[in-house]
Amino acid sequence: MQNLWSDIDAQDFIRRYEAKGVGEDLALRVYTSRLIGGNPELVAHGGGNTSVKTILPDFLGEETEVLCVKGSGWDLGNIEPQGLPAVRMAQLSAVRSRDTLSDEDMVAFQRSNLLDPTAPNPSIETLLHAYLPHKFVDHSHATAILSLVDQPDGMALVQKVLGSKIAVVPYVMAGFQLAKVTADVFEANPEVEGIVLHKHGLFTFGESAKQSYDRMITFVSKAEDFISAAKPFSPAKANMPARLASASDIAPILRGAAALEASERGDHGRWIMDYRTSDAVRTFVDGAALCDYGARGVITPDHIIRLKNRPLIVPAPDAENLAAFKDAVQAAVTAFKEDYSRYYAENSGGKGTTRLDTAPRVVLVPGVGLFGMGKSRKEASVAADLAEASIDCVSNAERIGTFEALTEAELFDMEYWSLEQAKLGKGGEKPLQRQVAVITGGGGAIGAATAKLMAENGAEVVVLDLDQSKAAATADEIGGHAMALACDVTDAASIEAAFDKVCAQFGGVDIVVSNAGAAWQGEIGTLDDAILRKSFELNFFAHQNVAKCAVKVMKAQGTGGALLFNASKQAVNPGKNFGAYGVPKAATLFLSRQYALEYGAIGIRVGAVNADRIRSGLLTDDMIKDRSTARGLTEGDYLAGNLLGREVTAYDVAQAFLHQALAQATTANVTTVDGGNISAALR
Ligand code: ZN
Repeated sequence: MQNLWSDIDAQDFIRRYEAKGVGEDLALRVYTSRLIGGNPELVAHGGGNTSVKTILPDFLGEETEVLCVKGSGWDLGNIEPQGLPAVRMAQLSAVRSRDTLSDEDMVAFQRSNLLDPTAPNPSIETLLHAYLPHKFVDHSHATAILSLVDQPDGMALVQKVLGSKIAVVPYVMAGFQLAKVTADVFEANPEVEGIVLHKHGLFTFGESAKQSYDRMITFVSKAEDFISAAKPFSPAKANMPARLASASDIAPILRGAAALEASERGDHGRWIMDYRTSDAVRTFVDGAALCDYGARGVITPDHIIRLKNRPLIVPAPDAENLAAFKDAVQAAVTAFKEDYSRYYAENSGGKGTTRLDTAPRVVLVPGVGLFGMGKSRKEASVAADLAEASIDCVSNAERIGTFEALTEAELFDMEYWSLEQAKLGKGGEKPLQRQVAVITGGGGAIGAATAKLMAENGAEVVVLDLDQSKAAATADEIGGHAMALACDVTDAASIEAAFDKVCAQFGGVDIVVSNAGAAWQGEIGTLDDAILRKSFELNFFAHQNVAKCAVKVMKAQGTGGALLFNASKQAVNPGKNFGAYGVPKAATLFLSRQYALEYGAIGIRVGAVNADRIRSGLLTDDMIKDRSTARGLTEGDYLAGNLLGREVTAYDVAQAFLHQALAQATTANVTTVDGGNISAALR
């Protein structure tokens, strides 16, 4: 492992933070914390922690000895000084004399000794940092170290490989007891430069930030060198079908099967997925013994809250027989849930816990790769990252011996530990959370407003537009994981390709807003056939093609969905010279009812929004000008020429789509958004 320390960078941190009133100790603590946090082979997603013992003024300006230690909710990779709350050292030291300290009391005690009462909670490993005498202490969950200790003889092996400058502490769950045991082990071996926590991770320490970091890299490199000397991980391969199905074909099947049951979820049972594959992932998941080495448990206790006790393993998908794959996945999910319930029943006795949901967070698919799952794209990607790190760690453990995780009982106590669950954060879910919404014509005013509103309500959003840059502009405005794709909705292959990408990226589709359209004008009796046919391509067949793709994915998922169309006032109330637009839109309005009729039984709800007089891009400014002039009105009066006397905006249309996406008991609905126009009112 490369040592990334640079004197120039270190000086730069000192200078930059000095300008903000931050001292050298904390500046260097931030610098090497980021070096550690930036390397996924050391820590990932909030894992690991660091500290420095220093002097800071308290509220009254009195110089106080403190431990600045990673705060909860911060990630080492982008930590700032405020992510390292200062806790009074004297009090932390004093509490060591106690025999016991409950987790709740420990958290309260640490908080009550913060210099700044508004600082985040200090790490749950704060006391361990405090009881090591060194100025700088670093803690990682380095995968190379875990490959050594996650073995039946892990303690002896890691001692042998890392040598006499390391001490090893048997497994104890994080908290007060682990801090005391570790301090005792250190005091019995004061010459060591690091401590390995069995089946958990590595602590290094030193008098300078550089010394502690150097030791971290040195020990991890030793472990890596030892692993490299063993022959590569190449397990016997499982039999594979002649033609494997793709990730985008199987993702909706997996996603649907893993969705929580209605009783468990209300309306929030779906999962967002994140697909990964690589040579290393394939070597691992293609192994004949995957169900053995792949299902022994997580590599470090910290992972269990994000990965559950084990992954879901399904058979290799035969592209010629997806129906059989779907059945096998269903059976595997049922078995997973039963096994999780057994694990809960066997380990929860008398602990006063409430069972968490029974769904997996990682799916391993021979021949394809892995999927992370979560309530959001962010959570799914965290699960996928940790799963990739786990595959690396377990593969290496198998090269040098036999991977062995903590016992189920130990894993259970960690998974259900309130201090671990607190890391996941609380807070209700947004109305469309866990759902994937695809919006066509997402670069235009109505499409963009709809995409934004769906995202604000928690959906993962995919913006499709003929013009990639317009789609990207909407996605950029939304931020987060919003995805932009170029798609020609008049080309069935282009739509299929887009849906494939969405399925590979997010796992499937729940809401489709078929919005793309454009208006052509002309007297119907003399209208060029070519124009009418062109309009039918975009204003009817495109909707049909988008709907077909949506229904295919929704059927595979089996969790219903919302299929929404942008119809137009023209669909029910023709405007003079707008036949080229209105006739196909009328067909599209009827199309929406046909879908409602044929797919209601599998929970697909269909809606159409019947909007009028909106500055939306469907009608160009020139068209609006023409129409207002024809009526002897100003543009503003034309746009607001409705019963309510108010201009209708793209946001009003977006609200109607959102309502249709949310209204669980509504289908075959047409919502009028035109400010009131009696001649266009539905009857
Ligand atoms: Zn740890």
